[in-house]
Amino acid sequence: SGLACADQLNKKGHLVTVFERNDRVGGLLQYGIPTMKLSKQVVQRRVDLMAEEGIEFKTSVNVGKDITGDDLLKNFNAVCLTTGATWPRDLPIPGRQLNGIYFAMTFLESSQKQLWNSNNNFLHLTAKDKKVIVVGGGDTGCDCIGTSLRQGAKNIVSFEILPRPGDTRGADNPWPQWPRIYRKDYGHEEVELKWGSDPRIFGINSKEFLDDGAGNVKGIRSVRVEWTQDNGRWIMKEVPNSEQIYEADLVLLAMGFLGPETYLTEQLRLTKDQRSNVLTKAGTYRTPIDRIYAAGDCRRGQSLVVHAINEGRQAAREIDADLHNGMSTLPGPGGVIPYPPIALGTKLMAG
Ligand SMILES: Cc1cc2nc3c(=O)[nH]c(=O)nc-3n(C[C@H](O)[C@H](O)[C@H](O)COP(=O)(O)OP(=O)(O)OC[C@H]3O[C@@H](n4cnc5c(N)ncnc54)[C@H](O)[C@@H]3O)c2cc1C
Repeated sequence: SGLACADQLNKKGHLVTVFERNDRVGGLLQYGIPTMKLSKQVVQRRVDLMAEEGIEFKTSVNVGKDITGDDLLKNFNAVCLTTGATWPRDLPIPGRQLNGIYFAMTFLESSQKQLWNSNNNFLHLTAKDKKVIVVGGGDTGCDCIGTSLRQGAKNIVSFEILPRPGDTRGADNPWPQWPRIYRKDYGHEEVELKWGSDPRIFGINSKEFLDDGAGNVKGIRSVRVEWTQDNGRWIMKEVPNSEQIYEADLVLLAMGFLGPETYLTEQLRLTKDQRSNVLTKAGTYRTPIDRIYAAGDCRRGQSLVVHAINEGRQAAREIDADLHNGMSTLPGPGGVIPYPPIALGTKLMAG
């Protein structure tokens, strides 16, 4: 989102600086989405082009720690926050402090940095010869599965607390809603090809991380759960006598994200919306604080690359307009374009 915003503003002749706390720019495109889904050469090529076009990149600068938000406001006419929704959901059950339990992003970032042969100090994690449990059966979990497989894991299991979706739409999920049906993503198919079955176990909850006696995780004590509906509200119940231990020496927590981290937003005295994202004025990218804008995952929650790009571009348009007496020639969000095109000068009826 930050790159899209910078690119648009640079095209309009503004001087743009991108601050990035990591050693390389690109956000999740660089250190989240694994290489087999998105080549890092593609990301780097785009960043190099933008640098040649005049955008200044300052890496390893953590805004809010190395420099303050107020420093930015002093030195720049506008500040756009595109810090992502990087606060991961934790699993605070007994044994959480054991070695071998990591957030998905720590693992994926470490994997990518090893592929880059980064010299920086970072945790060198690998799934090689490990029994891996991925907690969370979503897209991030799938990327952990695909990465663990490529690193040579001994076996891979993935826990999903929700029940297995049906093979066809439920009565409460009619067209044109997105079909909530059972699907296999690439990681699930790859594991099935290698070991014969989908690595996901549905309707399972983690009760405790087990200690090997030396402070390392050796497994998870789990229980099966069932979901019932009461007045439209889903209720989870443990299935009696269904406890089971799954062995693991690497556990990856991929249970979603809770919004942006708060140290910078608090420093800038920004408010959160109901979903813990950065609050912007309705239908805009302007925060309630003058000259500060927000776009991408930090504004809408963990989402998709297309949305991040779109938000960055539209935030740039607002910034450009605010710096130019309310006018910007940057493209808007698009929409339905009438065909054949309406002739210039045609009178349009309102209503
Ligand atoms: C594992 C994973 C896989 C995904 N796969 C896909 C996919 O296949 N397709 C898809 O469309 N979407 C995917 N997504 C979602 C997509 O990557 C995000 O929606 C998108 O990257 C959000 O872009 P963003 O710019 O808002 O935030 P991010 O990409 O998170 O970028 C935020 C950047 O801000 C930096 N930053 C944060 N705080 C500071 C600070 N204080 N100072 C300086 N820098 C800071 C971060 O280091 C980061 O580089 C995936 C997400 C994850 C987690």
